[in-house]
Amino acid sequence: MQVPAHVEYERAGSVQHALSLLSRPETRVLAGGHSLIPMMKLRLAQPELLVDINGLAELAFIALDGGQLRIGALARHADLLSSAVAGECFPIFHDAERVVADPIVRLWGTVGGSLCQADPSEDLSAAFAATRATAVIRTLDGERTVPVRHFHLGPYETVIGRGELLAEIRVPVLPRTGSAYQKVSRRVGDWSVAAAGAVLQLDPEGDIASAGIGLTAVGAEHFVAAEAEEFLRGRAADEDSFAEAGKIAARHCHPVADQRGPEDFKRHLVAELTTRALGRAAARATEGNTA
Ligand SMILES: Cc1cc2nc3c(=O)[nH]c(=O)nc-3n(C[C@H](O)[C@H](O)[C@H](O)COP(=O)(O)OP(=O)(O)OC[C@H]3O[C@@H](n4cnc5c(N)ncnc54)[C@H](O)[C@@H]3O)c2cc1C
Repeated sequence: MQVPAHVEYERAGSVQHALSLLSRPETRVLAGGHSLIPMMKLRLAQPELLVDINGLAELAFIALDGGQLRIGALARHADLLSSAVAGECFPIFHDAERVVADPIVRLWGTVGGSLCQADPSEDLSAAFAATRATAVIRTLDGERTVPVRHFHLGPYETVIGRGELLAEIRVPVLPRTGSAYQKVSRRVGDWSVAAAGAVLQLDPEGDIASAGIGLTAVGAEHFVAAEAEEFLRGRAADEDSFAEAGKIAARHCHPVADQRGPEDFKRHLVAELTTRALGRAAARATEGNTA
């Protein structure tokens, strides 16, 4: 089936307007449409009403504000990739965006759509999980915040309920921090076979104060390698620590064999990519490419 079912369409004139439309049953937000429209064509999604939020300029921003990097849900992948402030604070986003799809998808696909699609292979979900970001969800009554690590309930499922809209993502900017993202895909522009994102904060002595590790496409709970993060806390920021963390991350994720490769190959990639991402993050933290 390549033709969507009948659907009504409304273009939201304001966030309040969008929220009131979204309180109706069987309603979906339309952002870039790169995920939703193909799903509608395949009848995997059959909303009765689409609420187009593309006119809501107040959701399309990227700004440093009071110790946080704030990214509006309607910021496009290309906006994040070209944002100097995002690249300076969190090179992980530039690393990840360089390998998300192709320029056409990046020009129209949005950061919010990427997170809300909750595809287990979505690169930004792991990147935001690594940064311990917070999702800001608007409701008709106000707003609520949810750590990105609790935003995804499972494949294609998030905490966003009826009458709610993801408005922005806030990322805490910390001193002596470096970050990186490493991905392997079968060809340029393709989804991950596996990928790993790392955020390291070093203490004044150069040891690891805290680590954030996000994994893509390998069945990691909440996209996070929690055991490897715990292992790294307080350790020396050196190759031995990173290699061991990589092995721990590989042991604790749950990849499945598919057309992109067998399980043991994906575990091998997790170990290697986690080690490399941690090494790059540590180098950036010490190089001064930090927040
Ligand atoms: C050819 C192709 C290749 C791709 N390759 C990659 C890749 O390598 N890596 C990767 O990470 N991604 C990849 N993608 C996915 C792409 O990043 C996402 O499709 C896109 O970012 C989704 O954003 P969108 O704005 O198009 O969302 P939409 O398709 O408009 O929406 C997706 C879902 O999110 C909901 N939604 C959107 N915005 C909000 C909001 N603000 N609040 C609440 N709900 C909302 C919609 O209702 C829908 O359910 C690829 C896509 C294509 C088409």
